[in-house]
Amino acid sequence: MDQALDVAKEALEKGEVPVGCLLVYNGEVIGRGRNEVNETKNATRHAEMVAIDQVLEWCKQHKRDYREVFPQLVLYVTVEPCIMCAAALRLMKIPRVVYGCRNERFGGCGSVLSISSDDMVDSGDPFECSSGYRAEEAVELLKAFYRQENPNAPKSKVRKKDRRQ
Ligand SMILES: [Zn+2]
Repeated sequence: MDQALDVAKEALEKGEVPVGCLLVYNGEVIGRGRNEVNETKNATRHAEMVAIDQVLEWCKQHKRDYREVFPQLVLYVTVEPCIMCAAALRLMKIPRVVYGCRNERFGGCGSVLSISSDDMVDSGDPFECSSGYRAEEAVELLKAFYRQENPNAPKSKVRKKDRRQ
C-alpha cells in the first residue's frame, strides 16, 4: 500500500485525481497505475484500467496466458474501485482487492453498488475485498486535490466534482 500511495501522490503532482494502484503477482508488482483521465482526456483511464493494461503487456512480453495470470493477482488501490473498474476486475477475474478509503460517489465494492459480490450472470467472478488500509492518507490526498482544484478541468466540472473517482 506504501507504493500505491506513492503512485497516488504522483497523480496529485500531475493534476490528476490522486488514486494509485498496484497489481501483484506472486509477490511481484507487474502492473502499476494512476489516474490518467486529464492527461489522456479519457474519462475511463482510471488507475485500475491503466494497471490492467500493463499486466496484459507483461503477459505478452513474458509469453504468459493472461487467463492464468489474472486469477492470481492481488490489486492494491488507495480508493475503493468505482463501479466501472469493479466490473472490469470481475470480468478479468482478479480475485482479491485491498483498498484504502471508501468511494462514496461511485464505489463499486459496497459503497454505492456491490459489483464485487453480487450474483450476476455472465459477468465474471465476484472478488474478495478488504478495506481501510492507510485510508486516512488516501483521503488526505483526495482532500488536497480538491483544495487545489483541478487546473485542467472546466470550472463547472470542478464545482460539480465530476472528476472524482
Ligand atoms: Zn474506476
